[in-house]
Amino acid sequence: MDTPPKYSIVLPAYNEASNIAPMTERLMAVCEALDGPFEIIWVNDGSTDQSSALLDDMTDANTRVRALHFSRNFGHMAALCAGLEAAHATHAVVTMDADGQHPPERIPDMVAAWHNGADIVQMVRAEDPRLSAGKRLTSHWFYALFNLLADTNVPQGAADFRLLDRQVVDALNNLPERVRFMRGLVHWVGFEQTQLTFAQDDRIAGNTKYSLWRMITLALNGITSFSVRPLRLAFVLTLLVLAVVAVYSVYVLLAMVTGKYLTPGWASTMFIILLLGAAQLLVIGIASEYLARMYVEQKQRPVYIIRKKPRQEDPPSESH
Ligand code: UDP
Ligand code: MG
Repeated sequence: MDTPPKYSIVLPAYNEASNIAPMTERLMAVCEALDGPFEIIWVNDGSTDQSSALLDDMTDANTRVRALHFSRNFGHMAALCAGLEAAHATHAVVTMDADGQHPPERIPDMVAAWHNGADIVQMVRAEDPRLSAGKRLTSHWFYALFNLLADTNVPQGAADFRLLDRQVVDALNNLPERVRFMRGLVHWVGFEQTQLTFAQDDRIAGNTKYSLWRMITLALNGITSFSVRPLRLAFVLTLLVLAVVAVYSVYVLLAMVTGKYLTPGWASTMFIILLLGAAQLLVIGIASEYLARMYVEQKQRPVYIIRKKPRQEDPPSESH
């Protein structure tokens, strides 16, 4: 491709052979109408179906389509990262599911929001009655817990369907951490963020590639890479044990004053057990605090990210 594309569309795909051709076709139709050249990047995450051969044929036939093939299945987050790193787009990158759940027909709306000044256009899934109660509940609890622990505000139903300005892509690519919980990181990097609601379509073909176990791993990665609060649990427990000690002391004092019979040695044994427990928890709490500091340090996230202004090109005047 001679001229670098203005837009890149990144699609992580794991065993999505039946979806590759229809998605590419829909994307081509939508992207042809955009205000600049584009490329479609398929990230084949170690698929074991016909995806590789299909993608190779497609990239041979269509210079707008590129494909990266992982040596094995490294996971959705790794595939998203690879796509962002490979994107040649000079202006913006759109990431989306390969299975048709994220309608390519919304890309013009996303580009319009970007023209209006947004650096990140986050697509948020509208409440979908077809979604299984289990999935809805797990997703709801996950975001509630994540936002509580990590002090962020990742919207409920935020999908990995979003447009990122080139400077956001650069900022994300420059984050040195290995565990990449993209939904959190996109929020963390800042910039002008806006949300658009979308109605999630049915999969063109195939099933979810997210087993329950993968969802749990994703949730744990998300929470632990954005929060050291679970490490603070020891301090909370220390306070609880100390509260028990306090209540118990009052009880013993009252018992002594009122002449109530106490088994000899019982009160002192309880005090020793509770105080030793509290002391141990306190030490664990202090050690955890240092561990938390080390954890935060080793992620080597930048202390700040500078917003480059103005953008590389002024948006077309009619959209202002
Ligand atoms: N995916 C991937 N690697 C994986 C699992 C999933 O690249 O190990 C891709 C998958 O092909 C799809 C996207 O990530 O394009 C989201 O997965 P899926 O649609 O199965 O998730 P769901 O929509 O059910 O949450
Ligand atoms: Mg999907």
